[in-house]
Amino acid sequence: MERTLIIVKPDGVARGLVGTVLERFERRGFRILRLEMRQIDRALAEQHYAHLAGKPFFEGLLEAITEGPAVVAVLERENAIKIARNLIGATNPVDAAAGTIRGDFGGELPRNVVHGSDSVESYLREAGLFFPGDRDLLQI
Ligand code: UDP
Ligand code: MG
Repeated sequence: MERTLIIVKPDGVARGLVGTVLERFERRGFRILRLEMRQIDRALAEQHYAHLAGKPFFEGLLEAITEGPAVVAVLERENAIKIARNLIGATNPVDAAAGTIRGDFGGELPRNVVHGSDSVESYLREAGLFFPGDRDLLQI
């Protein structure tokens, strides 16, 4: 069984999309292992998006992910990473297909409603950042 870390970003929370986003994952057979609403601070945001440091959109991205409460979840199912990425859709909502979360709910970069881990390695790194000391999450 595979796991992924999902974030309903502050723009998604502010727009009232928490239930809708979680429902899409549940309907697709994901089981919720962890679920937490939290304010992501700048230090955590910098670590989560460390691979993007130096990009022209980095500052705006940090601002967007820290501007209000987010909902962070760990979800589980077979092929969780790939299926979640397909449900979420392309990074830019302009490019995201209808039927995907970003395609249906839009938003303007960097505000694209939701984050999902892009690999098992990313999941392990992100689970360690958002749920430190929760060793059960790393048993995969
Ligand atoms: N982002 C942006 N402009 C870009 C690329 C990315 O604002 O040109 C933001 C956007 O919020 C995206 C996040 O940075 O979700 C992380 O980028 P990544 O390439 O990892 O996209 P994702 O995995 O979220 O689809
Ligand atoms: Mg990414």
